[in-house]
Order: sequence, then structure tokens, then C-alpha cells
Amino acid sequence: MPVSEREQSMNTNAIKNVVIVGGGTAGWMTAAALSKVFGQRLSIHLIESEEIGTVGVGEATIPQIRVFNGMLGIDENEFVRSTQGTFKLGIEFADWLRPGHRYMHAFGAVGGRDLGSVPFHQYWLKMRLVNQAAALDDYTFNSVAAYQNKFMRSVNMPNSPLASIFYAFHFDASLYARYLRAYAETRGVRRTEGKVMHSRLRGQDGFIEAVTLESGEVVNGDLFIDCSGFRGLLIEQAMETGYIDWSHYLPCDRAVAVPSESVTPLLPYTRSTARQAGWQWRIPLQHRIGNGMVFSSNFLSEEKANQQLLDNLDGKALSEPRVLRFKTGMRRKFWNKNCVAIGLASGFLEPLESTSIHFIQSSIAKLVALFPDKQFSDVDIHEYNRQTRYEFERSRDFLLLHYWANERDEPFWQYFRHLKLPETLQHKIELFRSQGRVFKEGDELFGEASWLQVMVGQNVMPERYHPVVDLRSGDDVHSMLSGVNKLLRDCVSVMPDHAEYVKKSCRGISES
Ligand code: FAD
Repeated sequence: MPVSEREQSMNTNAIKNVVIVGGGTAGWMTAAALSKVFGQRLSIHLIESEEIGTVGVGEATIPQIRVFNGMLGIDENEFVRSTQGTFKLGIEFADWLRPGHRYMHAFGAVGGRDLGSVPFHQYWLKMRLVNQAAALDDYTFNSVAAYQNKFMRSVNMPNSPLASIFYAFHFDASLYARYLRAYAETRGVRRTEGKVMHSRLRGQDGFIEAVTLESGEVVNGDLFIDCSGFRGLLIEQAMETGYIDWSHYLPCDRAVAVPSESVTPLLPYTRSTARQAGWQWRIPLQHRIGNGMVFSSNFLSEEKANQQLLDNLDGKALSEPRVLRFKTGMRRKFWNKNCVAIGLASGFLEPLESTSIHFIQSSIAKLVALFPDKQFSDVDIHEYNRQTRYEFERSRDFLLLHYWANERDEPFWQYFRHLKLPETLQHKIELFRSQGRVFKEGDELFGEASWLQVMVGQNVMPERYHPVVDLRSGDDVHSMLSGVNKLLRDCVSVMPDHAEYVKKSCRGISES
């Protein structure tokens, strides 16, 4: 076929109209990314209902979000300013193992130095067995910086930990959605305020043809993206795709959220504190602190959860607590026919490791990589679903590890100790317990350093260590560990205070 004819046939086959239902973080991230990638080739129509509103929480992220913002070409300082953002070096887990204990899951490497064949933590394990090692946090750059409330971006100093500082953000997700809305509308995305009341499915194959709004307007499309939140308006209510319920693994099914006034210092990390039947988050923004309690209604009433949350705020509450209900799990298919569910419509894991906004970003990246034409190839759809499912499952395992390995007394926490774990997680734990081995598998989201820090933090300790470690004398390894810790502390000592950095570099935090 001549090139011109081939082009013509591809053009008739091309997706032209994309309809996004929902204008929360998921809807606007999707609209912004597709408008950036496809430009005028796609007509993108986003429908959202202010009356229904958004979930309105979702404030902590992981470092990958910088890739997303970078792809959009967003200036990072402007972004931090516009979203009341702060920087995040990791998550502190307080009282998770047992009351009084804490550890950090910090971004970036553990050890600060590449030791060749064997990872740093193997040397640490040897010294720990003879009580000659400090806590793992003391050898992790981001933890050392976080606990001193220090932050700065990487600088050009080869071979220094300061040359590769991994960070993410805390931000006001509704301001982020507003920011992305302006970005997307500038690039031609059309927005309609209104409620979708009905979806029309095509008789012969069940593909979505159109959605009808309360106003009577009918919106046709080739590809429908369901960003309607937990309700899954298209993927579930219209297409009945089905949901895989993981409540037996992760029984928390409620959250109460409340903002509180800012207090000093401005911490460069999220804090997660274990409570009687769940855990409490603390996310410092410039203008307020985001707080919430995730809990299981089988073990705690909403009233008691409210009270526990209000009793444990650092500053004064700025509003009444709001309750959110959810069911942990994922859709049987994330992409069904011509409907792709992104965001809460695709499934939900509690925000313990700030995964949800990342799942949105990752779904968008996969959708772009596998972007269909009107033939909607089954093999592409299958691949999208396979990859997304893998990411959900492995992240679920990672969250479950935090709960399972606990030494707390309350019935909620004891529940996990009797749980039969997924085989994938069981295998990871056994591998680590034997000789401290940990591997990132395939495209799973969390890498070796993450698994390591949570295993050690939750006291899942190996019985032995890698034999190569014994090629170095104990004194040699001891002085190597001390050297690493000193290097990290020296580097952190030259870093500015986090609040100062936000104020100066991003011109954030009003001078009042
Ligand atoms: P929503 O915010 O619910 O938006 C749904 C949209 O669909 C809205 O615009 C709504 O108006 C629209 N809509 C619904 N029905 C209709 C209709 N019939 N017609 C028209 N429009 C409709 N994620 C993180 O990454 N980090 C966190 O720290 C974090 N914390 C969280 C804490 C809690 C308690 C919860 C529940 C979630 C948290 N998340 C977090 C997840 C995060 O909030 C969501 O992933 C993110 O906000 C995306 O939500 P969404 O856009 O999918 O849904």
C-alpha cells in the first residue's frame, strides 16, 4: 500500500475523541498529560461535577511525580508555590513495631556508597549481630537529613551524597488539580460542568458510545476514561467490570481527615503513627498540616476514631473531621473495551506509602505507551491490565508487610499475625530472613532499599548475612560504617533548614 493510502487508513482508524469523566487529581492529570502528548490530534472533553466534588485528600507523593511534572514541563518552584507544597524525604513510621519505636522509610539508597558486589546493608547486618552498628536510619542520607529538618535539591558534587538527593512533595491536591486544569485548558481540553446520569453502550459489543448529562447534553467519544472516583461510574456502574476485594489483607475501610494549623518546625517528611485500630497521617504543607486516621470499622467506631484523631493533633483543628469510606482492592480489569479506569475508579490501597497519585501517573504512562486506535487490540488491553495488576499486587504486599510484622497488643494488630500472607510476600520475607537478600522484581514499584528499610524497621531480621562480608575484618567493616555515618552527617550539616529552603528557593510560605 502506498504511504499516503496507509496514512489515510491510519487516520480513519485513529482515536479522535477522548471523554474523561471526573475532574479530581486523576481527571486533570490525565487531561494534562494527554493534551501535552497528543496536542491538537485529540479532542479531549472532561466532565466534572462540582456538586459531587472530589475526595479532597491525597497530599503526599513519591519521587516519581517529578518525572510526571517534568514531562509536562512544569517549573518545580512554581509548582511548589502554587500548591502550598513542601518537600518530602521519606515517611517516618512511629509506634508501628511497638509503642515508642520509630524508623524511617527514606527515599534513596541505604549506605551512601557503592560497595561493589554486596549491598551496604550486608555489612551492617554483620556489625549489628555484634552490637557494633547504629540504627539503619543513621546510614541513610535522607533519614539523617529528615530528622534534622534539613532539605535542599541535589548539587553538582560528584561522589557526594549531595549529588543525588531523592525527594517528593507534600501538596494540596485540590490546588494541584486546579493548576493542571489551567494547564490542560490552555492546551485545548474542553471542560463541561455537569453530572453524568447515563452511559449508552453499543448493542453489538458493549463498548461505550456516549454519556448523557443531567442537562440532557449527549457527549460521544471513541475512548472513555473513568476518573469518577470510588463510584467507578463507567467501569463499574455501566460496564460491571467487577472488583477484587482485599479487605481480608488490609482491613482498614475508613478514614477521618482534618486539617490543622501549621506548627514549627516544618518537617520534610510524612509521619505515620500507629494507633489502636489503624494509623494516623501527618502531612506538613506550607499553610496547614493535613491529618487523618485510617482505621478498620470492625475494630473502632467512627466517633472514637474522630476523637483519637482530634486528641493527637499538633496544632488546632481548622474544620470538623470528614469521614471517607473505602474498600481496599482493585478492578478485575482496569481497561475494559473502550473504557480505562484511572485513579480511585481503578482501585484503592490506603495511603500508607502514598501510592495513589503515583498509580494515576503510572496508568497514564501505560495508556500513552499502549494508546489504542479504534480497533482496540486485545493484546494491548491485556498487557495494560497485566502490568497494572502487577503494580497493585506488589504494592499491596508492601503495605501488608508494615502491618503483619508488628509486636503490638491490640486485637486489630494481632489480627495480622494470624494472617496467611500472599505467597509473593511470604517468599520475600523468607528470602530476607535467611541471609538478608532482597530483590526488586520486574516492574514492582518499591525497590530494594524500600523493602529493606521496612523489613528492618518492622524487625524482620535475617539470621545470617552474605558470606562475602567475612572477607573483610570486623575492624575494617566497623570503620567503614562509621565513615559512612560521618560522611552523611557532614553533608547534612551544610544543608539549609527545610522551611528556609521553601521560602528562599520557591518563594513559598507567606512572610506574614
Ligand atoms: P475523586 O477525587 O473522587 O474525583 C472524582 C471526580 O469525578 C470528581 O471531579 C467528581 O465530581 C467526578 N464525578 C463523579 N461522579 C460524577 C458524575 N456522575 N458526573 C460528573 N462527574 C462526576 N493519594 C496519594 O497519592 N497520597 C496521599 O497522601 C493520599 N491520601 C489519601 C487519603 C485518603 C483518606 C484517601 C481516600 C485517598 C488518598 N489518596 C492519596 C488518594 C488520592 O486522594 C486519589 O488518588 C486522588 O485524589 C485521585 O482521586 P480521583 O480523581 O480518582 O477521584
